[in-house]
Amino acid sequence: MTARADESADVVIIGSGVGGGCVAHQLAGSGARILVLERGERLPREAQNWDPEAVFVDNRYRTTDTWLDAAGNVFRPGQFYYVGGHTKVYGTAMFRFRERDFDGIEHAEGTTVPWPIRYAELEPWYAQAERVFGVHGKAGDDPTEPARSGDYPFPAIPHEPVIAEVFERMRSRGLHPAHMPAAIDFHPGGTCVRCGTCDAFPCRIGAKGDAETRLIDPALKHPNVRLQTGSLVTRLITDDSGKRIVGVEIERDGQRSVINARLFVLSAGAINSAAILLRSADPKNPAGLANSSGTVGRYYMNHNCTAIMAVTPWRTNATRYPKTLTLNDYYFGGDASDRPLGNLQLLGKIQEPMLRGALPNVPKWSRAWLARHSVDWYVMSEDLAQADSCVRLTSGGKIQLVWKRSNLRAHQHWVDVAKKLLKDVGFPIVLSKPFGTDTPSHQCGTVRFGTDPATSALDPYCRSWDHENLYVVDASLFPSSAALNPALTVAAQALRVGAHLQAGLHRF
Ligand SMILES: Cc1cc2nc3c(=O)[nH]c(=O)nc-3n(C[C@H](O)[C@H](O)[C@H](O)COP(=O)(O)OP(=O)(O)OC[C@H]3O[C@@H](n4cnc5c(N)ncnc54)[C@H](O)[C@@H]3O)c2cc1C
Repeated sequence: MTARADESADVVIIGSGVGGGCVAHQLAGSGARILVLERGERLPREAQNWDPEAVFVDNRYRTTDTWLDAAGNVFRPGQFYYVGGHTKVYGTAMFRFRERDFDGIEHAEGTTVPWPIRYAELEPWYAQAERVFGVHGKAGDDPTEPARSGDYPFPAIPHEPVIAEVFERMRSRGLHPAHMPAAIDFHPGGTCVRCGTCDAFPCRIGAKGDAETRLIDPALKHPNVRLQTGSLVTRLITDDSGKRIVGVEIERDGQRSVINARLFVLSAGAINSAAILLRSADPKNPAGLANSSGTVGRYYMNHNCTAIMAVTPWRTNATRYPKTLTLNDYYFGGDASDRPLGNLQLLGKIQEPMLRGALPNVPKWSRAWLARHSVDWYVMSEDLAQADSCVRLTSGGKIQLVWKRSNLRAHQHWVDVAKKLLKDVGFPIVLSKPFGTDTPSHQCGTVRFGTDPATSALDPYCRSWDHENLYVVDASLFPSSAALNPALTVAAQALRVGAHLQAGLHRF
């Protein structure tokens, strides 16, 4: 295929997920011609959205692309390419990172890299992100919660009876269970019907606060913003100096073309953004774009996560929306460790088809019984940044994901503590299963921001140190992963960067 230069815009945003969507949201009123390029299409609203067979057994929405793992084995990653990015299937947990997460924390296996900005800098943007996504929550019941300039936009989603009971039992043991911040449209007049799915399922009625409904669609109401779907960005093109980006090459309907612009915002998600930068290597930038520090594609992190099913044989769990409770008493270790352990939160309700992969030899009726009687948890610990945990390209241009896991002793300790705690609060059977490499749900860290061009790819506003008109704004910017869900932090920094760009568009 030969590339044609057939289109131009003032600003090209690559990816319509959280990062790209927030930047589009901030630039929407600017008058500049904004073009959002998205490889996927709109995720159809259809009966299968809420069908666990379709979602978990048939993998209806998962990409059919394959990557290689560290050993060179081919796998089909848990990647979802749609307008709205991974928020189309996300679990709606919208946490702020804790103040200390930005400072550098000592873990059992190493110390995290401090962020180039502190929590206080991001606080107003967290507040805006919560408003934009319509986050429900309750301030003040979580001792680790960072300082807030105001309350949540909406009150916390109420616990359903089984969860309310667990909440009280935890409280009676001196713990501090808290209401989980969640972006679903559940309040008087809201559209959420507590369908019984949510986490990992698309929302058939648009009641999930995702990047399509909350960012892209509102931005598209402005005549200067355009979305072009089915447009796979393959590489960025520089001018003769190698310093300025002049175009982006896309593949669409089997055709290759180039789109020119003055400003480029790369928001393709942590793995794909790194891959695009590496794939864009040219004679002036032989190691890839934005990569004079050698950090692009390195320091890949993805949280250490384990699912726990806590089973009470004599009671069924009919909860429709379980994601209302979280526990951070052990986030920094608590009385169980002098080093951080992590977060405990409820997962979406596990259903029988979701167990088929994990328990293939267990009879279907047994899996169904388990799913009916379990309360389902997500145990999360920080993954520490390591240079050789990375995204690479093979000689054929395929993505190889080499996830070098870290901090696993702390994670195992946290899983043990959580299992004991769940037994103590009334679940005699507690089963666990770790998540693996094929589930890069909380991918981050591969194009880190910082204050030093020698050790980071981006400045504190996510501008490439090497290219004045290239910003990378998605989860790749994280220098550390904390132990909380990433989307609200991506959103906060992307809103901050978007506002900064809006104020200085004339410079490009
Ligand atoms: C099942 C699941 C559950 C999750 N639950 C939660 C949760 O409850 N809370 C939370 O905080 N986080 C959750 N996450 C993580 C969260 O969704 C991500 O952290 C967040 O979406 C990252 O935003 P991003 O902008 O970095 O990337 P994305 O949202 O992934 O956006 C990247 C976009 O770029 C597009 N793209 C990729 N490559 C190209 C290319 N070459 N050309 C053009 N477009 C491209 C993609 O299609 C996508 O639209 C979950 C993720 C998954 C998979």
